[in-house]
Amino acid sequence: MEEVDHIWMDGDLVDWNDAEVHVLTHALHYGSGVFEGIRAYDTGEDTVVFRLDAHLDRFFSSAEPYGIEIPFSRDEIEDAIYRLILENGLESCYIRPIAFYGYEELGVNPADCPVRVAIAVWPWGAYLGEEALENGVRVQVSSWRKYRSDMIPTNAKTTGTYINSLLATTEADRRGFEESILLDADGYVSEGPGENIFLVNDGEIITPDISSSILEGVTRKSVITIAEDLGYEVDERRVSRGELYTSDELFFTGTAAEVTPIRAVENVDIGEGTKGPITDEIQQAFFETVEGEREQYSDWLFRVQ
Ligand code: PMP
Repeated sequence: MEEVDHIWMDGDLVDWNDAEVHVLTHALHYGSGVFEGIRAYDTGEDTVVFRLDAHLDRFFSSAEPYGIEIPFSRDEIEDAIYRLILENGLESCYIRPIAFYGYEELGVNPADCPVRVAIAVWPWGAYLGEEALENGVRVQVSSWRKYRSDMIPTNAKTTGTYINSLLATTEADRRGFEESILLDADGYVSEGPGENIFLVNDGEIITPDISSSILEGVTRKSVITIAEDLGYEVDERRVSRGELYTSDELFFTGTAAEVTPIRAVENVDIGEGTKGPITDEIQQAFFETVEGEREQYSDWLFRVQ
């Protein structure tokens, strides 16, 4: 990863290499942390954080099921993010806030552990590669299922649960695919390891709803709005595995992955086996939105100042 000068830790800026924790940190052993992934874009004039309000909402609500009381206000976290981007001299970057149980006791109950908070920013290009944004990725259907919301909250972005994503991602890599799709515990389509998924069929756009254990992505929500504004109908419902193979187009959405076309599932080409026309239209609208070229979505952009 590309290192920058400073990381924000528990209220202070520290040098990148000094942002350390004790090896007996609760979260290292039990995954007891929550985090966000956010992007800032260069509009040519300003640096803007995309939908910072929605990401901060999710950051604070992710903490609730675990009793993680973040010892900073929303405003303090927002200011810290701006300050960090400015101090590090970045124009576009990825932003990673994390709140986690620190070091005190190592029983599973974290009651005595302090809540630590850190924010890092660094330049991060296209998550699945520039080539993927243009021509799409080949994905497998993971043999690992997405955990269900009565096992672990699926609407919280919890550090420990990314071991489920790790299994799906590394399995894809070993099998020669670029990414995975996970089915839910009932065998319906859920999402990617770090992305939501959309299908296009006969001009209609479809995406799994919350009953399929998805994380409700900020990009997902934005793409639904953009697609509807472009005149498409978007159906949020359960999606069967078979529909993946018969759809005209498929694409992933996510802060890291942005809008990435899927060109094949398990050696079956989707559509023409490249980026589909509706995916292209939505992807273009998305990039114009985050780069400040679409006035109607200007309230999604938070100027770094
Ligand atoms: N699902 C999972 C499991 C994720 O990790 C992410 C990335 N945060 C998403 C979906 C997409 O969410 P967002 O658009 O808010 O980044």
